[in-house]
Amino acid sequence: MTPDVETIVIGGGVVGLAIARRLAVRGSETLILERHDRIGSETSSRNSEVIHAGIYYPHGSMRARLCVEGKKQLYEFAAENGISVNRCGKLVVATSDEDMSALETIAARAATNGVSDISLLNRTQAQQMEPNLECIAALHSPSTGVIDSHGLMTALEGHLTENGGQVVLSTEVLGIALSNGGNFAITARSGSDETAHTTLITCRNLIMAAGLEATRVGNLLGAGWREGYAPPQTYPAKGHYFTLSRRAPFTHLIYPVPSGAWLGVHLTLDIAGQAKFGPDLLWIDDVDYSFDDPQGARCRQFASEIQRYWPGLPADKLQPGYTGIRPKIYRRGEPAADFAIHGPETHGVANLIALYGIESPGLTSSLAIGDVVVDRLLGPPAE
Ligand SMILES: Cc1cc2nc3c(=O)[nH]c(=O)nc-3n(C[C@H](O)[C@H](O)[C@H](O)COP(=O)(O)OP(=O)(O)OC[C@H]3O[C@@H](n4cnc5c(N)ncnc54)[C@H](O)[C@@H]3O)c2cc1C
Repeated sequence: MTPDVETIVIGGGVVGLAIARRLAVRGSETLILERHDRIGSETSSRNSEVIHAGIYYPHGSMRARLCVEGKKQLYEFAAENGISVNRCGKLVVATSDEDMSALETIAARAATNGVSDISLLNRTQAQQMEPNLECIAALHSPSTGVIDSHGLMTALEGHLTENGGQVVLSTEVLGIALSNGGNFAITARSGSDETAHTTLITCRNLIMAAGLEATRVGNLLGAGWREGYAPPQTYPAKGHYFTLSRRAPFTHLIYPVPSGAWLGVHLTLDIAGQAKFGPDLLWIDDVDYSFDDPQGARCRQFASEIQRYWPGLPADKLQPGYTGIRPKIYRRGEPAADFAIHGPETHGVANLIALYGIESPGLTSSLAIGDVVVDRLLGPPAE
């Protein structure tokens, strides 16, 4: 039977948008189904908006490869589409002798990942760049920057619609079934409480890009998966951000050396140059965006971490900002997992690609993820 639409993408975050845009540009009739009334209102608008260089991730991992490729594409895409970026660079700072070996490890990893513009600075050189910084040494990553993530998502939606695609908002996918003809039958509920109605729509290809809901959406296919396959479990990990109620005296992003899978309380700048600090890392049971700071304890913890590299921080100017939640697919204490992009060879279902664990650097990698997913679905583009 002819399906209603060729391809459906579940999830209108930056990754779903980048995939859908690529599908539409390659000529596949594409619809995004997004449960909220705006695009990108979950993780894609609750992050640091950093274009990462690709220096931290294990060599050969998808996170390393797609970050380096995605960064290049993102700067080009931003320039072509008038999206604000600030290629401000970043300093990863060592504040103790123990941090020095971590800096060397990062520099070596950056080189194996193909990031060749990293330089090691001594204290004086680092302070020439940032006079208010305290450190014993720093790594300078000049290709790191920040992007207007909303501008990016609006531009991706624009390309999608120009190429015949569409984002259908306020539409939550509640059921997925496989028909005998190999099409997918999607049950979705649309509209607000008073006007809610259920629709059945069929498609030939299906992309699951549901972020924190990836496991739940995957489980909707139930027995449709190959025997023995189950969508990876998602473990949410919250991060809080504090903002600074005055201008920070820094022009680079400032990161401490990472601690395990966590990058530490870092200073990032938004596109207007306003500083924010975070995110921290709090493993949680359920998705909940509340900002928790019992008796100011979190604020004090942030202040003491920031003062290691910025002793002049006026701690009374830290203000609760917002939270974001990482869709991790590994438990606390386990080694960090790579992005999981599962196609038929993994789960046994033709014409379906499911994405799990697309945490940082998912924003940076979004355009490159779009290419990988669409090339796997449609085959490489004709030359
Ligand atoms: C604290 C934090 C900081 C980060 N900082 C950076 C950074 O600086 N740089 C970087 O590169 N990356 C960063 N990231 C990672 C980046 O933000 C994510 O990788 C990226 O936003 C993921 O996009 P997504 O589209 O996969 O997910 P989302 O933005 O979560 O989109 C998924 C969408 O699916 C929709 N959905 C879910 N279930 C359904 C359903 N049943 N029906 C319909 N729609 C559904 C949701 O409503 C949502 O809009 C950060 C992440 C976090 C949490």
